[in-house]
Amino acid sequence: TKELLRQTDKLSAIGQLAAGIAHEIRNPLTSLRGFVQLLQASLADPRYCEIMLAELDRINFIVSELLVLAKPKQMKFQDKKPTQIIYDVISLLESQANMNNVIFHDHLERSLPTISCDENQLKQVFINVCKNAIEALPEGGDIYVESSRLAASRIRISIRDTGKGIDPIRIPRLGEPFYTTKENGTGLGLMVSYRILEEHGGSLTIESEPEKGTTVHITLPV
Ligand code: ADP
Ligand code: MG
Repeated sequence: TKELLRQTDKLSAIGQLAAGIAHEIRNPLTSLRGFVQLLQASLADPRYCEIMLAELDRINFIVSELLVLAKPKQMKFQDKKPTQIIYDVISLLESQANMNNVIFHDHLERSLPTISCDENQLKQVFINVCKNAIEALPEGGDIYVESSRLAASRIRISIRDTGKGIDPIRIPRLGEPFYTTKENGTGLGLMVSYRILEEHGGSLTIESEPEKGTTVHITLPV
């Protein structure tokens, strides 16, 4: 069975709350990190400090993901070629893909029109989705990135993996804050992606079949 998900505006009040809390955590976190570094320099055995710094960095990562959900900070919209953005993301993830025996195949139309977007934010969306695809292929496999024009004013980028797929009963929960099935997941990637796409007038839909794979469609206005 094929499950379909369409939920561009699923951002809930809880996400806003999380973003508010994240903002409050950031300042004490920064000073904590500074003092642990000082402490590390003065100790004969720096091992515990290294662990503390690594854990602080993990908190910082989670917090910065949550901050995207806060009041949209100044977005810089510029006309960009979507193909270039995707090539950049693929090369950014190339080494992680290699390590996991995952191969990216891109079938992108060269003639795609430019889109008005905040390049870094849009990259973040493709990074989140492509990372999920890599993580769905623990034994390695293929990821296909395809583009198409939907109507005169919309383009679609699809990221398809041949990975483990998603159980249909889990699909409605995707994009909820902290919803993850991974041991080290944050459950924030999709939520942040929905939010960014919403601000671009775009959308994200997920189609998946357990044991067959998952396709994420991202549409954007040109
Ligand atoms: P995280 O990756 O930290 O778990 P995400 O928000 O990126 O958080 O994803 C939420 C959940 O959605 C994942 O834990 C996983 O269960 C599911 N998921 C997302 N993309 C895929 C995919 N390509 N294949 C299988 N499951 C996926
Ligand atoms: Mg993820």
